[in-house]
Amino acid sequence: MKEKVYFIPVSDGFDDDDASRRLEDLIREKGLLDFIRERDLTAIKTHFGEGGKTGHVRPCYLKMLGEMIKARKAKPFLTETQTLYKGNRTDAVSHLAHAYAQGYGYERTGLPIIMADGLFGDEETEVAIPGKIYRSVKIASGVVKASSLVVVSHFTGHMAAGFGCAIKNMGMGCSSRKGKMSQHSSAKPKISASSCTRCGACVQWCPASAVTIQADSAVIDGAVCIGCGQCLAVCRFDAVTYDWGATYEVLQKKMTEHAWGVAAGKKGTMLCINFLTRISKDCDCVTSYERVAPDIGMLVSFDPVAADAASLDMVEERVGRKLPQFAYQIPYRHQIDHAREIGFGNPDYELVTAS
Ligand code: SF4
Ligand code: SF4
Repeated sequence: MKEKVYFIPVSDGFDDDDASRRLEDLIREKGLLDFIRERDLTAIKTHFGEGGKTGHVRPCYLKMLGEMIKARKAKPFLTETQTLYKGNRTDAVSHLAHAYAQGYGYERTGLPIIMADGLFGDEETEVAIPGKIYRSVKIASGVVKASSLVVVSHFTGHMAAGFGCAIKNMGMGCSSRKGKMSQHSSAKPKISASSCTRCGACVQWCPASAVTIQADSAVIDGAVCIGCGQCLAVCRFDAVTYDWGATYEVLQKKMTEHAWGVAAGKKGTMLCINFLTRISKDCDCVTSYERVAPDIGMLVSFDPVAADAASLDMVEERVGRKLPQFAYQIPYRHQIDHAREIGFGNPDYELVTAS
């Protein structure tokens, strides 16, 4: 049986307020938020974007969703978790200040922001899953405790996941710091002395203090490194390399199993909305922005796997090439394939285009 994925098309230069009204019409007409009950504490999981990025989902959509949820006499809130790497989103105080600066304050959205994993990213709940890699995963407690969940995701390319959308927003974005570390732990980078300029950027950004500047180059202590990939992202001299061999596959599978842990407690109480707009080569954590696809629209489904499978197909179809040809040249389908293998969600979908 195929899972329904609703599609609202947009074109380049679309108007966000108009698109938000069309999304609202679809949700109302199809009753897509009817699972929300009176007095539910409903989490809306999104990503506030890095400073300077322009691709993340605009506040007007979140405001609209919040108003629809409040109309059901429930109590919606925006939620996020802390990043593994150092920066504006490493702890709840910095992250909240960042969210306000990005335009997600209460005055714009009508929604309080509650960090699901607490002040330091360590407030977690162990969720049992029958995975191939994990028997349990560490999910941010605020997400687990929320009565219902709306996952608002932006489709982008990603240097290790291949692409990021609902599964990544849930798997990485809703896990605690330990959960994130566990997903990244199989990837360990190396620094090439011949390319390293000893600029120190990797030392500054490494969350584990695993890098030191030595006589010839920066050097990573493999015993301390947590495999987060931040050094790869910040090095401007291509001096950091990963032995990605098996790690793309392992990371993508681990992320998918964490997403399963998020969905496990939300059967019938979760909706996913994927934005295929302002699509960039890198995820919204990366400050640079390279647009790689036209604006396509919004996909809505109760099933994150169906939503992501449809999103990926639609982006490739619209660009006319496979994802590695316009984003990162890595294996990129493990999220979908592993979800099918473990029985999380349904990658077979029926696309229903909204009028
Ligand atoms: S950021 Fe790159 S060039 Fe700079 S010290 Fe680190 S590895 Fe070397
Ligand atoms: S050295 Fe390891 S822990 Fe430090 S930034 Fe690089 S991948 Fe992350």
